[in-house]
Amino acid sequence: MDHFTYKDGVLHAEDVTIQAIADCVGTPFYVYSSATLLRHFNLFNDALSGMDHLVCFAMKSLSNQAVIQLLGDAGAGMDVVSEGEYRRARAAGVPGDRIVFSGVGKTRHEMRVALEGGIRQFNVESEPEMDALSEVAAGLGLRAPITIRVNPDVDAKTHAKIATGKSENKFGIPIDRARAVYAHAATLSGVDVIGIDVHIGSQLTDLEPFRAAYAKVADLTVQLRADGHDIRRLDLGGGLGIPYSLGNANPPLPSDYGQLIRDTVGHLGCEIEIEPGRLISGNAGLLVSEVIYVKQGADRQFLIIDAGMNDLIRPAMYDAHHDIVPVIEQPTGADRATYDVVGPICESGDTFAKGRQMAQVGPGDLVAFRSAGAYGAVMSSEYNSRPMIPEVLVQRDQFAVIRPRPTFDEMIARDTVPAWL
Ligand SMILES: *Cc1c(COP(=O)(O)O)cnc(C)c1O
Repeated sequence: MDHFTYKDGVLHAEDVTIQAIADCVGTPFYVYSSATLLRHFNLFNDALSGMDHLVCFAMKSLSNQAVIQLLGDAGAGMDVVSEGEYRRARAAGVPGDRIVFSGVGKTRHEMRVALEGGIRQFNVESEPEMDALSEVAAGLGLRAPITIRVNPDVDAKTHAKIATGKSENKFGIPIDRARAVYAHAATLSGVDVIGIDVHIGSQLTDLEPFRAAYAKVADLTVQLRADGHDIRRLDLGGGLGIPYSLGNANPPLPSDYGQLIRDTVGHLGCEIEIEPGRLISGNAGLLVSEVIYVKQGADRQFLIIDAGMNDLIRPAMYDAHHDIVPVIEQPTGADRATYDVVGPICESGDTFAKGRQMAQVGPGDLVAFRSAGAYGAVMSSEYNSRPMIPEVLVQRDQFAVIRPRPTFDEMIARDTVPAWL
């Protein structure tokens, strides 16, 4: 459920009309709903109630400072994958003991920044990384709390580019080598082994891969404890999927997922951490764009809009589907049309949808891409020298620009030309 609905025939974000925002900031833009973000975070929190737990928002899905502060103030932890995300979380007031550092390629510099600034734990993904972290921490006179990310060799049954839990993927250590790696960790003076981490992929619409992975983690917990390790925290990753198309909306609910966690690892007495990104931010955002032209091709109609693949790359990168709806609601029985919905960029990949049946729209009309809150703005670029588009946050009847669109002069002034030219 989100808070983008038609009222009196006009699409609203909570109590604000999309048209009012467009009039203020121009198109294209991203708009997020505070109520939706908080609702989804609370669903996860409730799903784990009664267990010692922390829900860490995967910041890579949506990392605007206002969003981080909104969720951080509500009690969320943060899952960060870079120094930049770590600094964003701290700047938004999230304490270090609620920040988890994930990622296969943490540098020594990033480790130092997080250790000095305060960190809940590092999710370590390899032995070389563990050795480096131990050296860095020992050099600072500290012991870094770590979990080790295991790769359970489970097929997440999702798009290949976002599946991470098969042995062929670069993530984690093979689960059958885990005991040896934990034994090595126990010899290091700069790390303190506190748990196990697993994350098998993103946009999972079936709970069974989670069940398989968490069952393996439960077995491993028992083995590692028998080996003498104090396994007291399980980080179970993110990855719960969302319905991108309202037509086939039957995704697992956070409450079902919480029950699965209880069933698989609840008996172990561990503190539970999860790292959802998309399920918190995905349906909390729209990308709004204006139709520029409707162009008749040889055998199809192109709907040419002012958003491009640089603003929302998911269709080009993951063959992703986004529902595209008109901002002015069409009366029932109104004409529908079939379009290839495309942007202005000089690439054939700049196609949002092919043969899409949707409301008939024309030049000047606004359309909204649903479920664009996650992996939208954060993956955008200025390709074709199109300035980064603004982000807007709505709360009930108020809205605020939370990242302005740069002017062309600002964009150009970021480059510097050598004196010798
Ligand atoms: C991407 C990622 C997540 C979040 O995945 P979602 O599908 O957005 O929930 C969580 N943890 C790790 C380690 C990730 O890489």
